[in-house]
Amino acid sequence: MPHTTLVWFRQDLRLADHPALTHAVDRSDAVVPVFIWAPEEAGGWPPGGAHRWWLHRSLQALDRSLRDKGSRLMLRHGPSLETLRTLIEETGAGAVCWHTGYEPALRERDARIRDALREDGTEVRTFEGRLLHDVDGVRTGSGGPYQVYTPFWRKLGGLDLPVEAPLPVPRMGETKAPAAWPDSLPVEAFGLTPVAQDGVDWAGGFDGTPGEAAAHERLQAFIDHSLIDYPDRRNRPDVDGSSRLSPHLHHGELSPRQVWHAVQDWIRNRPMKDAAEVFLKEIVWREFAYHLLHHFPHTPAEPLKDTFAAFPWEDDADGLDRWQRGQTGYPIVDAGMRQLWQTGWMHNRVRMIVASFLTKDLLIPWQRGAEWFWDTLVDGDLASNTMGWQWAAGCGADAQPFFRIFNPVSQGERYDPDGAYVRRWVPELADLPTNYIHQPWTAPHDVLRRAGVELGTTYPRPIVDHGQARDRALAAYETVRQRSKGEA
Ligand SMILES: Cc1cc2nc3c(=O)[nH]c(=O)nc-3n(C[C@H](O)[C@H](O)[C@H](O)COP(=O)(O)OP(=O)(O)OC[C@H]3O[C@@H](n4cnc5c(N)ncnc54)[C@H](O)[C@@H]3O)c2cc1C
Repeated sequence: MPHTTLVWFRQDLRLADHPALTHAVDRSDAVVPVFIWAPEEAGGWPPGGAHRWWLHRSLQALDRSLRDKGSRLMLRHGPSLETLRTLIEETGAGAVCWHTGYEPALRERDARIRDALREDGTEVRTFEGRLLHDVDGVRTGSGGPYQVYTPFWRKLGGLDLPVEAPLPVPRMGETKAPAAWPDSLPVEAFGLTPVAQDGVDWAGGFDGTPGEAAAHERLQAFIDHSLIDYPDRRNRPDVDGSSRLSPHLHHGELSPRQVWHAVQDWIRNRPMKDAAEVFLKEIVWREFAYHLLHHFPHTPAEPLKDTFAAFPWEDDADGLDRWQRGQTGYPIVDAGMRQLWQTGWMHNRVRMIVASFLTKDLLIPWQRGAEWFWDTLVDGDLASNTMGWQWAAGCGADAQPFFRIFNPVSQGERYDPDGAYVRRWVPELADLPTNYIHQPWTAPHDVLRRAGVELGTTYPRPIVDHGQARDRALAAYETVRQRSKGEA
């Protein structure tokens, strides 16, 4: 039994259901929790601005929880291998443990670190702490990875997927503290919180409370009040119908096993299987995203369907800028992009609409959208973001076919029927009658005047005509379709 073990925290900022921490506490005399800030090791995907904002607070919350248990979180700057070696020297640790990562650059880094530490004579143990199931272990009949969701869900067993019970918070206590704590940086040393520019604090309106305790409160409130209506309300951005657990799951303040079991407990003795199934299927979509990233590590940058490598995308800097700022002239798109900018989060249905608009109405490469989301989402997650963007652009696994192009007006009318979502995020349109709220350019002059809207001045005219943009997108798609037919 090693005397002292380092537990390397990464995207698992919690104490409960933390197999690496539990193992360390069970097997060592002393446990040293550590977080290393090394964004340069993440390949082309260092944590984005909104992610960092959340991380700052989540690290503070984790340190508080550890201190309540007589422990604390050591914060250090990378490089990770050198930092772990230094900490091993300082604490005399004989072992290091952590949870498996799936991001391609981090996976390679972890393998290098594992080998190097083992060569040094340090024991290294890794555990599954981010997913429900071993993503490598799920294979099609022919032994390959899945590229279609429904058979993946069935293969896992659907609602009967055997998910191990989550672990309790390990009993740490003062007894597991090292004889002397090594030095730790203050979290401020990482510079994670965006600096206000010209008096404007970008993160001032960010939504959500980081940390394990808040994650559990959110889960419980969702199960108690919203799960039952989830199938009907999850597609409505104007209501609080989804769980909002994505940043908590992304940062590992909550594990998917905890979510799975909490929902399974809820349906026990209740005839509510359908609502639970619709929700748990989303948790398995997350799993599917990790399965895809694991087997197709090139996809954060390149399309899964390689015919799309030759797609004639447009280089439209002005279009990209107007999309980012929520100034496209399509209210549902602008509402979504402003919700994202102001709160660090966007509703799933609207993510689909704005992604379709960028890639199909503006023909801007999906990678530009994925990069913007990466920087502005508090839940920016390489697996889910990549899958979401490739789905929207038609070039990914189980994707929306390219020729299915969302009409931003009818999508708005269907999913924001009273216009409440648009009124909230695009306040300059708030006084428009509902029948014009998703297409203000069709409103008569006097209606616009009464609502205080002057198109082109107070709110932009549409940046493209959707009908023409649709024809242009289909023509562009036809070129790659013909090429791939010719190659077949
Ligand atoms: C273009 C695009 C980009 C996206 N980027 C991200 C991202 O960077 N990070 C991220 O967590 N999700 C991403 N998603 C998926 C989805 O939009 C969010 O997970 C969801 O909106 C989070 O809200 P919620 O927690 O209320 O979801 P709920 O509907 O309550 O779902 C519960 C949980 O299931 C998971 N989930 C739900 N839908 C999906 C999905 N389509 N794919 C993968 N997991 C899902 C999430 O962990 C979510 O928290 C993206 C979707 C699209 C279309």
